[in-house]
Amino acid sequence: MILPDASLGVLGGGQLGRMFTLAAHSMGYRVVVLDPDPHSPAGLIADQHIKADYRDRAALQLLGDECAAITTEFENIPAESLEFLERFCPVRPGADAVRIAQNRIDEKTFIQQQGLATAPFAAIYEAGDIEAAITGLQAPLLLKTASMGYDGKGQQQISTADEARAAFLQMGGKPCVLEEMVDLEREISVVLVRNTNGLMAVYPVGENRHVNGILDTTMVPSAAATDTIKAAINMARQLADAMNYCGVLAVEFFCTRQGDLLINEMAPRPHNSGHYTVDACASSQFEQQVRMMCGLAPGSTELLSAVVMTNLMGDIWNNGTPAWQHVLNETGAQLHLYGKREARPGRKMGHINCLAGDTESALQVTARIRSALNMEP
Ligand code: AMP
Repeated sequence: MILPDASLGVLGGGQLGRMFTLAAHSMGYRVVVLDPDPHSPAGLIADQHIKADYRDRAALQLLGDECAAITTEFENIPAESLEFLERFCPVRPGADAVRIAQNRIDEKTFIQQQGLATAPFAAIYEAGDIEAAITGLQAPLLLKTASMGYDGKGQQQISTADEARAAFLQMGGKPCVLEEMVDLEREISVVLVRNTNGLMAVYPVGENRHVNGILDTTMVPSAAATDTIKAAINMARQLADAMNYCGVLAVEFFCTRQGDLLINEMAPRPHNSGHYTVDACASSQFEQQVRMMCGLAPGSTELLSAVVMTNLMGDIWNNGTPAWQHVLNETGAQLHLYGKREARPGRKMGHINCLAGDTESALQVTARIRSALNMEP
């Protein structure tokens, strides 16, 4: 067990690292962030910020020497760096789980090996694989890069082999998955935590709305059928057990109009669709990340209030700083800004959690705020 005031390390200094740091600080831990960006949101508030590349062995060694345990805030940390750090102290989640999640081919193959469903897909390693792949799949299709893709980046919709070849080359000729576009009824996600003893706690299932491939809104509780929610939770638990996972795990699902429940992807870390837990649950997903890496018991995942989480993208800075009084004057609306220096379209700058007695009321508050900030309804 690692107790306050030990030092905890986090690889990556984005908003997830920042919220991890806030949670760790309030519990009395010190935090060391490794991130090359001198202005990273987590680095700004950490006790120590090591500004170096994620492959820099000297920097990794410094982190390993300083910290009692290490975690990661995004899955594109080289798995070899996590393996190197495992020589110094516990790294949770471990390199094996992160390696699966950082490659869509490995991830979907692993999910199917557990007997769980994904959208039908084929792996594309070279242009020559496309012809055979496309005959086995039903258009329209999405071509997604196997690694380094997130928030709808590195994806293109295609229907013919010619389009797929052009997209493959345009995306750099790197390994990809070619995947059927499914007819979505809704998207849901399960955020769970699992400790070193295999003890799990699962958060209430969130219902997600994406705009242009990027999460826009999470509503909790979800309106999905109870059976669907139970099945999704069981599938997520099964994945966590199969990886002997330790940490916070998020699993994203597609609910199709045909009644199928498919796993889209998983994230070996706190997730944007779990940001609602910070204000609406007894323990936040970031507190749980601390608990899991420290060998502690999971905190309570109880939902204390209906909640709607809305992402704030850089687009709303187009006409200057948004008029935050419209958020701050709403009782029940919690504003979270990540301290990023530059607002760019499509960049996640913050989020708002609107809490109310029921989802409908939380949606009404959200709608007022969206209108005041000139966001699409
Ligand atoms: P991803 O980066 O794979 O999580 O995709 C981002 C978003 O794009 C998803 O949350 C969906 O809204 C949409 N999307 C991705 N793959 C598919 C698919 N096979 N069928 C339908 N929508 C998809």
